[in-house]
Amino acid sequence: MNRNEIELYIHIPFCVRKCAYCDFLSGPADEGTKARYLARLFDEFAFYGEMLGKGKHADRETAHGAVECKGPRRITSVFVGGGTPTSLSAEQLSGLFERLYGCFDIERDAEITVECNPGTLDANKLSALKGAGVNRLSIGLQSALDDELKLLGRIHTFEEFLKEYKAAKSLGFENINIDIMQALPGQTVGKAMRTVKTVASLEPEHISAYSLIVEEGTPFFERYGAHPELLPDEGTDRAIYHGTEEMLASAGFVHYEISNYAKPGFECRHNKGYWTGTDYIGMGLGAASLLDGVRFGNARTLEEYVSCFKDPSTVETLTGKDRMAEFFFLGLRMTEGVERAEFLRRFGIPADEVYGDVLRKHVAAGLLKDDGKKISLTERGIDISNTVMCEFL
Ligand code: SF4
Repeated sequence: MNRNEIELYIHIPFCVRKCAYCDFLSGPADEGTKARYLARLFDEFAFYGEMLGKGKHADRETAHGAVECKGPRRITSVFVGGGTPTSLSAEQLSGLFERLYGCFDIERDAEITVECNPGTLDANKLSALKGAGVNRLSIGLQSALDDELKLLGRIHTFEEFLKEYKAAKSLGFENINIDIMQALPGQTVGKAMRTVKTVASLEPEHISAYSLIVEEGTPFFERYGAHPELLPDEGTDRAIYHGTEEMLASAGFVHYEISNYAKPGFECRHNKGYWTGTDYIGMGLGAASLLDGVRFGNARTLEEYVSCFKDPSTVETLTGKDRMAEFFFLGLRMTEGVERAEFLRRFGIPADEVYGDVLRKHVAAGLLKDDGKKISLTERGIDISNTVMCEFL
């Protein structure tokens, strides 16, 4: 990690319809709301653009008086997520990037990702994204089986996804992620593998495969919260996980993070930055930021965000101990693990002096691998990764 680097995240909270499992800050909105939101978002671009210096050295307090930026910083990644950014029109998407480039100096070779959902991508929007320099698309497919898409409350069929995916490829997008969701209600290992096989056969550069989490406050929670027997059991979930790993390995994907697979050289730079502690500025509803050891977030309702984007109550200055814990908690997500030398470089103390007992215990239990230089999760450790990683907190 280069301490001078910084990543930008931009949240677009609009979707055509709310999916049955989703608890993200997202939902349908009318055109007036979208326009008001974008206007406020552009104010935020201007605010942080000035703070990061647009090429100049910048060092001043933010609106809530708690964060300073010691610029200039290299912006190496931009991630426009949601929600469904492609629920905006082609003109709105072009306008968003025009503002972004007007406010920030973004590295020439930066990774610029836009999340898309099938059913919202057309030739105009794809051309607008291409024209705006977007070089990575992340498409939320979730399943290649229409009965599962219906169960999830998705707005699209597999055929619709396929048409849009092929259009993106033929327009020259050469770095595409496809998201799939696993351990769905009633899902067997065989059904899950059908989706993995279908997706791998499309040869995207990246695949994310996350297990469903039934979140409170969603229609899925009402249906399944009290009925875990309707969801795949732990054994099925693990069999799906290991089956996915094997199938994608044989299709040439590198398993570089617990839930992420990439063709060599196509690991998501934005996420890797997050897992290795790179600073980031989040803009838009509810977006979180980490800047020079301070974490802070934006307002989580549209009304509050439009009147004042910051939520001062979220400001938290990380202690040295917090940052050390995050180093392991996030870093162990990557299959290459964490480096002792990097820990020493960042914190000025050997990892063993802080976490010696935890490391020895998990190595002895076969949950961590330790070659003296690098520490990483074993296959068994990955299966209970949350338990292992929580011990560093
Ligand atoms: S498209 Fe994504 S963000 Fe929007 S409701 Fe569905 S899961 Fe949530």
